[in-house]
Amino acid sequence: MEFYQPIHVEPKSRLELRALAHSIRSFLNIEPDDYFPAVEVLEVLQFFVPDAYFEIVPVSDLPPNTHAYTNISKKSIVIREDVYDGACKGNGRDRMTIVHEFAHFFMLCFFGFKLTRSFGQSIKAYCDPEWQAKCLAGELMMDSRAIAGMDASTVVEKYGVSEDAAIMQLSKI
Ligand SMILES: [Zn+2]
Repeated sequence: MEFYQPIHVEPKSRLELRALAHSIRSFLNIEPDDYFPAVEVLEVLQFFVPDAYFEIVPVSDLPPNTHAYTNISKKSIVIREDVYDGACKGNGRDRMTIVHEFAHFFMLCFFGFKLTRSFGQSIKAYCDPEWQAKCLAGELMMDSRAIAGMDASTVVEKYGVSEDAAIMQLSKI
């Protein structure tokens, strides 16, 4: 979610984030061709940051349209219960919501990408933490080494993502 808007972070190109996604998958023993275990990854946040944890909260605890967020100071990922349940059932959008927050968590809490106030300057896409989280989440769920040459419906089926996400990722290969 967009909690970090007036702030930007270190530039990271798609290719750098792709390489980072490959490293994270290999660290977690997830093959390029494997379905990304979005829900299970929440159980191993401590592999990356000691004291990190996730919380599932009732819909009424979050502002409208907030599905999840990452609390950098508490080192936690907070997820709305219906989103968590949807992800457990394999809903592509809910799975992506969780991996998006994992991407924020990883870059901000583990990697410590520096946050800089922008004082009203416009933020270049690649310096925007939202762009970075979207990019890293897409690369984590749909490994570039595996999806090249696939069609969108195969990617949706095999990797548990929405059609929009599959089309977007395929356009970047
Ligand atoms: Zn976000």
